[in-house]
Amino acid sequence: MNLNNLTKALKDQPPFRLKQAKEAIFKQLIENWSQALNLPSGLREKLNNEYPLAIKAQISESKDKKSVKALIYLRDGLKIESVLLRHEDRNTVCLSSQVGCALGCLFCATGQLGFRRNLDEGEIIEQVLVFNRYLKTLGEKVHNLVFMGMGEPFLNYGNVIGAIKKINSKETFNIGWRHISISTIGIPEGIRKLVKENLQVNLAVSLHAPNDDLRSQIIPLNAKYPLKEILKAVKYYLAETNRRVMFEYILIKGFNDQDSQARQLADLLADLPKKLYLINLILYNQSDFPKKKFLPSDKKQIEIFKRVLGRNKINVTERLRLGRGIQAACGQLTSQNK
Ligand code: SF4
Repeated sequence: MNLNNLTKALKDQPPFRLKQAKEAIFKQLIENWSQALNLPSGLREKLNNEYPLAIKAQISESKDKKSVKALIYLRDGLKIESVLLRHEDRNTVCLSSQVGCALGCLFCATGQLGFRRNLDEGEIIEQVLVFNRYLKTLGEKVHNLVFMGMGEPFLNYGNVIGAIKKINSKETFNIGWRHISISTIGIPEGIRKLVKENLQVNLAVSLHAPNDDLRSQIIPLNAKYPLKEILKAVKYYLAETNRRVMFEYILIKGFNDQDSQARQLADLLADLPKKLYLINLILYNQSDFPKKKFLPSDKKQIEIFKRVLGRNKINVTERLRLGRGIQAACGQLTSQNK
């Protein structure tokens, strides 16, 4: 399937046909044009030949079916992974924005793959389609999207923004801005550009360490964009949008989880308005891929870390640990068949 070519495939048709075709793809979630009964049979046949709707994807489900991973085969033979997390009444899809990633964060399996290429708009939208087709069989749909899969979304800025505008459109999935989150490792230009878009999407920024020395040991990009630069951009974002930012912090045993480091983190964020940010603690997910062997923090140490932040009146959440059984948790996506 190549969503980018739909307009081309219908160029000889009256304009309302494009609307009908989109209705069939995105609302009825057809997988074959023969199911598009709103189109004349000749056109259905032509589209089946010229614009097939099949998306080659291998689906793996966790035992409780709360986490579902899709290994999607792209047109050029490359592969990406996306994950559906089903929790309470919400279905959240973790989207990839690139094939691999150039940034090589040491705790991240994707970062060890290197970078192959950016995904185009259609390839980003198709990830949502794969899971909406899957959920249709259960009478459900995708509610939330987070760009936390493979790649750094701000390094594929145009396609990510283009795709979310389409995903938000009433003609496709009609997913509200506030249900879409972009997570960045901390690219100040991307944060500033997002402000100018004036979209109501959510922003998450990965800190993962309370100082530059420590952060540089796990995030090579910190040499280019140190914490000071990132927080300057975040401050600008908060002042311009008045929207809350989520800081991601991955807890690694004995590396960044000590009480003194929690205090340092609180000091680092001291001049940001507390009501406009929260810290999301993520337990490190072990993976076969990262070269450096890290371990997740102990439960007791997580509680201590949280308590120190709480004493500093910082809002803290802890990310649910979903997806580990199928290597679909945060930092585990590798596009390898498992
Ligand atoms: S954490 Fe994000 S930015 Fe870092 S290597 Fe992984 S995908 Fe890339």
